[in-house]
Amino acid sequence: MLCKYCGEQLDPPHENRGFCGDCYDIIIKDPLSFKKEILDNIDLPFFVVSQSSQRVVTANEEFLNFISKSFDQIANQLGGDVIGCIHAANPHGCGKGEFCSKCPIRNLVQKTIDTQNPQKHVHVVQLIKHEGETKDISLHVTTRIKNGYVLLQIDDYEFLS
Ligand SMILES: [Zn+2]
Repeated sequence: MLCKYCGEQLDPPHENRGFCGDCYDIIIKDPLSFKKEILDNIDLPFFVVSQSSQRVVTANEEFLNFISKSFDQIANQLGGDVIGCIHAANPHGCGKGEFCSKCPIRNLVQKTIDTQNPQKHVHVVQLIKHEGETKDISLHVTTRIKNGYVLLQIDDYEFLS
């Protein structure tokens, strides 16, 4: 299988995504300059947040399908609001409630920023509101960081309830 951007042969860990590591890094480095068609070519759902604001700057079509929202609905939102974290809906909002310090996705983003290293295939369970229903979702997430942007890729997911 070949990288959909540069045409290089892909290593097995990158086959699900359809993009080689080098091209993925180029995308994260300057996510806003990339055409939607290129981002949408990536087969695994992902979104990118700015390290300074922790707000969403871009996402691919697979991710928008996964959360059943349009990009306009998630642009500039915090991670918890994007994935539909039930705690983000409380009056304090995402990142300020009593549960937020334990939020696995928030902590994963923070760890990525603190270490400036990718976090690979981390298992997280999160209670979310999905299409009007409250559900536990089990996810494997891989992060990458470049140039002040953090990319979160969903390797796989499963609804537990
Ligand atoms: Zn490539």
